[in-house]
Amino acid sequence: MSGIVAIVGRPNVGKSTLFNRLIQRKEAIVDEVSGVTRDRHYGKSDWNGVEFSVIDTGGYLPVSDDVFQKEIDKQVLLAIDEADVILFLVDVKDGMTGVDQSISDMLHKSSKKTFLLVNKVDNSKLIEDSTEFYSLGFKDLFSLSSINGSGTGEFLDLLVEQLPKEDLAVSDVPKFAVVGRPNAGKSSFINSLIGEDRFIVTDVAGTTRDSLYTRYNQFGFDFELIDTAGIRRKTKVSEDIEFYSILRSIRSIENSDTCLIIYDVERGFDSQVQNIFWLAAKNKKGIVILVNKWDTMSKDHTTSKQIEEEIMTKTSPFIDIPIVFISALTKQRIFDAIKIAMEVNERRNHKIPTKKLNDLLLPIIEQKPPPSTKGKYVKIKFCRQLPTKYPQFAFYCNLPQYIKDPYKRFLENQIRKHYNFAGVPIDVFIRKK
Ligand code: GDP
Ligand code: GDP
Repeated sequence: MSGIVAIVGRPNVGKSTLFNRLIQRKEAIVDEVSGVTRDRHYGKSDWNGVEFSVIDTGGYLPVSDDVFQKEIDKQVLLAIDEADVILFLVDVKDGMTGVDQSISDMLHKSSKKTFLLVNKVDNSKLIEDSTEFYSLGFKDLFSLSSINGSGTGEFLDLLVEQLPKEDLAVSDVPKFAVVGRPNAGKSSFINSLIGEDRFIVTDVAGTTRDSLYTRYNQFGFDFELIDTAGIRRKTKVSEDIEFYSILRSIRSIENSDTCLIIYDVERGFDSQVQNIFWLAAKNKKGIVILVNKWDTMSKDHTTSKQIEEEIMTKTSPFIDIPIVFISALTKQRIFDAIKIAMEVNERRNHKIPTKKLNDLLLPIIEQKPPPSTKGKYVKIKFCRQLPTKYPQFAFYCNLPQYIKDPYKRFLENQIRKHYNFAGVPIDVFIRKK
């Protein structure tokens, strides 16, 4: 479980520059995974060994020369709702503006921990100019330069102290997040599953934060649903904006082991569903796709096949994500969905003994070794699965820098071919031995 940090501020103050600086180092590691496209507004960072997520809220605003105040307000309100800490960015070169003032007012009305960051202080001469922002009334004010990095370490030291600590109270049964766009049928699915039956459902306010786990222990299933109360409580939004569904999904996804990504078959597996999918994949969660409102479809014997193929194209390079056709309304296959989610979750925890793995893979690697680069012969000597929360495999060799992505993908595919990791993202690392 990691904290969520949101960057807010008016356009052009340097939000995306800061975002890129924060995720740089971490992202290089995360993106070793085959083919995972990089969301330009959401990423992982760490400082002094503390990992956290960063959201550039401005990145989700419509691209336009005049972003309206209303849009900025919405961005700030959602950040207040969803983040643990807010980085409020202002621009020393422009000085204080009316928009800065109004963002500041909104932040003061909430009790959310906020750091005021005066950006573009590229040299010490500008430090003096940054003091005018003290009048906004934030205790934690830092001047920095997102472009050259100066001043970032100082606030990061304090930032990581403010992040929520690992939550020990949570039980070790599988945690499922039901995520999707507004109106996909998330609440209907959950209600069909648990109804309002007090004997089945116990609300465990398990954390220091306001997220909520609902334990489900019935019909041989034992798991927790994340943030279901939040879904049930939520006020319906009329705007169908991507920013909304993404931001609302992030915490649930991060806190889960396996994500049930639900979408409305009539709307299709569109780019917003795709983004939620990548969010889950990027966080290395188990994934099941629920094609909902199946009752509304006029279908023949080819319909489900066609839909499966469409999903496969859109989730490439993953080829084996389980897909379940459901109706949250008529309860068709909703228990199948849970059964499959449990299976995915089990596969995500599966550990392959080192000897078995080497007996299988070393002969294959011998048959098709990494291509030699610059006349150098790369020898993989040994591999093992790491003792981590989701499947990660390390291959040890003499010249790790010469093993490129296509060969890593080959290794991953070999693992997937011989062991069932359907619906489970895996990592392949190459290390020096
Ligand atoms: P956003 O709209 O808030 O995401 O702002 P951007 O990150 O796109 O930055 C807007 C402009 O300010 C770009 O031209 C950046 O290169 C520039 N900028 C960002 N950070 C700094 C900084 O620390 N110093 C200077 N001099 N320019 C910066
Ligand atoms: P949420 O915003 O994702 O929680 O979506 P809701 O559960 O509130 O559902 C949005 C709308 O879709 C409601 O009017 C539901 O009755 C309807 N709906 C949800 N699931 C189904 C389904 O399987 N079939 C049909 N026909 N309608 C559904």
